[in-house]
Amino acid sequence: MPNDELPDIGLGTWQNTDPERCARSVATALDAGYRHVDTAQHYGNEEHVGDGIAAASVRREEVTVATKVHPEDTGLGYDDVLGAAATSCDRLGVDYLDLLYVHWPVGDYEASETLAALEELVDRGTVGHIGVSNFSVDLLEEARAALDDPLFAHQVEMHPLLQQRELVAYAQEHGHYLVAYSPLARGTVTEIPEIQAVAEKHAISEPQVSLAWLLSKDNVVVIPKSATEAHITANLQAANVELDEEDIAAIDDIDREERFVERPGAPWLDG
Ligand code: NAP
Repeated sequence: MPNDELPDIGLGTWQNTDPERCARSVATALDAGYRHVDTAQHYGNEEHVGDGIAAASVRREEVTVATKVHPEDTGLGYDDVLGAAATSCDRLGVDYLDLLYVHWPVGDYEASETLAALEELVDRGTVGHIGVSNFSVDLLEEARAALDDPLFAHQVEMHPLLQQRELVAYAQEHGHYLVAYSPLARGTVTEIPEIQAVAEKHAISEPQVSLAWLLSKDNVVVIPKSATEAHITANLQAANVELDEEDIAAIDDIDREERFVERPGAPWLDG
């Protein structure tokens, strides 16, 4: 049975492509207490992620396994998406995916066709929940209108330098998860003075501050990537960090709109 709740902290795996290191980091994370692993067909590591899930001393049913279909890998036509889900299950060594995302609303993405395939996969039991990634409010509106099933999760870049207030408010209003990707601003949160000050005050690390700040927002969950054992365990401990109102306000006030992930056709680009 697919998991119906998305754990607060999942393990990101983008660019974790060395087979042994990837499998080891997934197994380390699950053994340390993570219950959510985020991969994608486009990361080229689903098999290694699957090896890590198999190697961990945790039952598969306890793990929320999330992957993504990409317009440039398989296409996003109806049959393409059905085939992509079967391929992901094979590579990951699982019978079902807890969560399958549309990775980017570009290329041959068509809400009616692409999302109808995801609903068919839910009906078949191959997929537990439907997700989308890198959508705008307009595209979310179109997706929700096309879907009979609920939209479960929207995954977007979010960290103290890109606060995504509109998309967080939208997620809270419509009751889906906002999954924050690059939640450590790709490791650069260590260089942000406001974050450094809060980290020093609580004697914790800047990555833990960033994750705790994100988790202070309703509906937001985080998927920090790490292939380093000490970081994997430290990031999980962010779930126990309680920032006070003053800390949260200081980070809320950071007024920079810095994006680390871009691609042609992204909805936030003009034209
Ligand atoms: P991120 O999680 O913000 O940052 C990862 C970087 O931070 C790595 O260099 C990592 O190095 C370092 N790091 C992790 N924990 C640390 C710690 N405690 N102290 C110091 N450094 C630390 O960046 P991301 O990989 O871009 O985003 C996370 C995940 O989101 C991805 O892996 C992927 O699953 C997902 N994502 C999705 C999309 C999308 O289009 N949907 C786009 C981008 C990312 P070590 O490995 O050495 O720890």
